[in-house]
Amino acid sequence: MKQNIHPKYNEVTVTCSCGNTFTTGSTKGDIKVEVCSKCHPFYTGSKRLLVEEGGQIDKFKKKYKIQ
Ligand SMILES: [Zn+2]
Repeated sequence: MKQNIHPKYNEVTVTCSCGNTFTTGSTKGDIKVEVCSKCHPFYTGSKRLLVEEGGQIDKFKKKYKIQ
C-alpha cells in the first residue's frame, strides 16, 4: 500500500479459473477469482431470479438442486 497516492479506481482485469476474463473497477491490481458470474450457475441464476421473481430463491434452488 502506497501512502502518497489517493485510492483510485482503476480498470483491472479479473481472471477466473474457468479462463474467463473481464474488467472491473478496483483500487488494486489484477484479480484472480475461483468462479465468476459466467461459470457459476448459482450466481447467474440467483441474480436473474432476484430481478424476475424476487422471493422465489428457495423454490428455485430446490427445483434445480443448487446449494
Ligand atoms: Zn468463471
